[in-house]
Amino acid sequence: MSGRATFLGMPAFPVNAAAAVQDSQLRFNLRKATHTIRGRRASVVAEVPDWAELRAAGRQIKDHTLRNLERYLLRLEEAVTRAGGHVHWAADAREANRIVAGLVRATGETSVVKVKSMATQEIGLNEALAAEGITAYETDLAELIVQLGDDWPSHILVPAIHRNRSEIREIFLEKMAEWGRAAPEGLTDEPRALAEAARLHLRERFLSTKVAISGANFMIAETGTLVVLESEGNGRMCLTLPETLISVVGIEKLLPSWRDLEVFLQLLPRSSTGERMNPYTSTWTGAVEGQEFHLVLLDNGRTGVLADEVGRQALRCIRCSACLNVCPVYERAGGHAYGSVYPGPIGAILTPQLRGTTSDLDASLPYASTLCGACFDVCPVAIDIPEVLVHLRGRVRHPRAERLGMRAAGWVFDRQERLTRAERVAGRLRRFVPRRLPGPLSAWTETRDLPDIPPESFRDWWDRTDGGTR
Ligand code: SF4
Repeated sequence: MSGRATFLGMPAFPVNAAAAVQDSQLRFNLRKATHTIRGRRASVVAEVPDWAELRAAGRQIKDHTLRNLERYLLRLEEAVTRAGGHVHWAADAREANRIVAGLVRATGETSVVKVKSMATQEIGLNEALAAEGITAYETDLAELIVQLGDDWPSHILVPAIHRNRSEIREIFLEKMAEWGRAAPEGLTDEPRALAEAARLHLRERFLSTKVAISGANFMIAETGTLVVLESEGNGRMCLTLPETLISVVGIEKLLPSWRDLEVFLQLLPRSSTGERMNPYTSTWTGAVEGQEFHLVLLDNGRTGVLADEVGRQALRCIRCSACLNVCPVYERAGGHAYGSVYPGPIGAILTPQLRGTTSDLDASLPYASTLCGACFDVCPVAIDIPEVLVHLRGRVRHPRAERLGMRAAGWVFDRQERLTRAERVAGRLRRFVPRRLPGPLSAWTETRDLPDIPPESFRDWWDRTDGGTR
């Protein structure tokens, strides 16, 4: 049994993407899966006549909550505590992992079952628990495939989207026995057979593990209720069977009231799985009979994001993954190229805000986009991803030569006389301009032709001909 690989130390996005686009099997798997989900989403969204109003309501509720986050978080804490739960505050990943490991150790157990959770992936909880001698077993089918394959997630909703059925069969046959019940002999790659193998493997785990760890899609401040939407029923098993439940949730997952939840129960399933409703919607408030409940509220950079007026809209995200499924860059580069548990357009704006732009990888993410705007069009909470991408590009520190070049261009464009003079000089020297640029600029002309410089600028032509009338 080996631990999951990490994204640490990955090179910049263009390097990762250049390698990924060479993998035709990966491109085929991604195209097939994203086009299927995006088609389903489009048809169920079209059924809702007031989708635009719902989307506006989702945005408004999230913005209101984020503006009053402190008040609602305190209300949530009070309600969870009143209902018998324990609330813990974690400023960063290290603190959250320390709290969770301590809670598990206090039970005397050395294994936990997990409901799919982006927050726990973000903080590297499985690896932190492994360092403490605690094994975390993923129970979501796609997460199980990723864990057994010692792989990285590559999609928010379908972490194993880069795998096809025959690859999954191989992983099950090779690895399941290391983690528990082995895959049946003669396993085929039929979806039903694969699901049955996973079901038998996981059932043993559900029945024998006493501690569960989850995230949550939403938290309701007024009652202290947590909400998990899922499709497979593994979440329901994890949330109800174990004696101790620990939920690690980002502070932005808050909604003020049950009434607000109504909006998101319509927006999320249609945008994520293309369903009118999720098969399983689990809600719980505090500790239930026979089960201890701990809520770990995770900041990990979120309050820093909140301070940025443009960037903070990323915190409206409900992790539906609709933006990934329509993104032409994601479709070709795949999720691993983003070097984060948050891939695709949302990852390109969230990761650099949570982690900063000091590494080559994180500084490259705001450029991992064509700014086509398809992500904004489908986002159920109207996050203007292109706006945030452009905003974040302004934060990235560029090479000195590029900065000097941009400063010189800014100086020329700042005054009309300077631009006119520069155009005339360029027109006279046009014969000497090479077809390919030298040195570090050559990357630009490797895939593009330099445009021809006209002998005369448009302004000079206009003055000379009086707008073409002479
Ligand atoms: S940014 Fe919008 S579309 Fe993308 S995952 Fe978040 S909520 Fe969904």
